[in-house]
Amino acid sequence: MDLYEYQAKELFVRHGVPTTEGDVCTTPAEAEAVASKVGGPVVVKAQVKTGGRGKAGGVKLADNPQDAREKADAILGMDIKGHTVHRVLVAEASDIAEEYYVSFLLDRTNRSFLAMASIEGGVDIEEVAATKPEALAKIRVDALEGVTPALARDIADAAHFPEPIRADVADILVQLWRTLVDEGATLVEVNPLVQTPDGRVLALDGKVTLDENAAFRHPHHEAFIDVEGTDPIELRAGELNLNYVKLDGSVGIIGNGAGLVMSTLDVVSYAGEEFGGVEPANFLDIGGGASAEVMANGLDIVLNDPDVHAVFVNVFGGITACDAVANGIVNAMTMLEDKGEPVTKPIVCRIDGNNAEEGRRILNEAEHDLIELVETMDDAARRVAELAASRSAGK
Ligand code: GDP
Ligand code: MN
Repeated sequence: MDLYEYQAKELFVRHGVPTTEGDVCTTPAEAEAVASKVGGPVVVKAQVKTGGRGKAGGVKLADNPQDAREKADAILGMDIKGHTVHRVLVAEASDIAEEYYVSFLLDRTNRSFLAMASIEGGVDIEEVAATKPEALAKIRVDALEGVTPALARDIADAAHFPEPIRADVADILVQLWRTLVDEGATLVEVNPLVQTPDGRVLALDGKVTLDENAAFRHPHHEAFIDVEGTDPIELRAGELNLNYVKLDGSVGIIGNGAGLVMSTLDVVSYAGEEFGGVEPANFLDIGGGASAEVMANGLDIVLNDPDVHAVFVNVFGGITACDAVANGIVNAMTMLEDKGEPVTKPIVCRIDGNNAEEGRRILNEAEHDLIELVETMDDAARRVAELAASRSAGK
């Protein structure tokens, strides 16, 4: 999960990375109030999860609270690379002598972490990397050793930070590394890290990517979840601990196991070609357990998506045998009915694997109008694509 700048800075403050004082606002009036509280000139910054806000006009200096209100009014609602600005950060404006770049990131290819630093910051760092690679120092960080004061010093040396601030930069590098480790992040980036005319070093921008696999260790990160920026179905699926991704098509997909679900997406997409380009509406892996409750939650999520016209439940029984899964499906239908959300969309099921015969018998005996059992994965994909196509045509 990528964080907004103001959230990244919250983590910086928590770990002692020096930054400017400020607060996030959703209205011009709030921006004025924060500017009064901060006192003196402020910078009003669009909070969107994309870079290049400065160039797009989403970062503006304001001399006084009234000016901050006007700048916030201009920035709120702005579209920056397809992101609508709902919030601005109003922070103490800093005088800038020089702009630098520092980051730590997970380097999957080398199974370690990487520190990057440059005294040519403020600008697009990809451009520095492409046109002047010698200006971007890259140093491997061993995951177990981490960033010791000595390594931090090496990074500051390698990037040729000015001698008078090198010790401060090294301290900040250690604190940024602690931010990455203690918060379970895969990226911590500061661009620009600035030197003020009086020689202080401050993080003026921040980007942090949290590792969602580590979320269970960081309950306080829940507050960072971006409710208005996330698909509402994905949010609900997250609350139910379901592995769900919204896609663009009309066939709801439920399967057990990420690999099976991915190949299901492929076969549905392939089969859908024959019906005018029917595509999957989502990825949903209900995992190995696939109890009635999990199946009910999964069906609930998928069936509540207005884009879904038909559902494909593709299950391969393993440790959880097919009869248990079939009972899960049947019970899920009843559970949804009891909740006052009776199922109205066709559900094509293919179940195979451990105890498949018994599973199919259970589904057949349930004689549910909307459940259709199909023998093979390809035939089931074709059938569900056909159903989805005919139902969208009817709408
Ligand atoms: P980005 O364009 O999305 O990366 O947004 P940044 O937060 O990096 O801001 C872009 C640029 O605005 C920075 O590189 C600075 O040059 C400038 N800027 C940001 N904050 C301040 C500030 O407090 N004072 C001054 N003078 N300039 C700032
Ligand atoms: Mn920046």
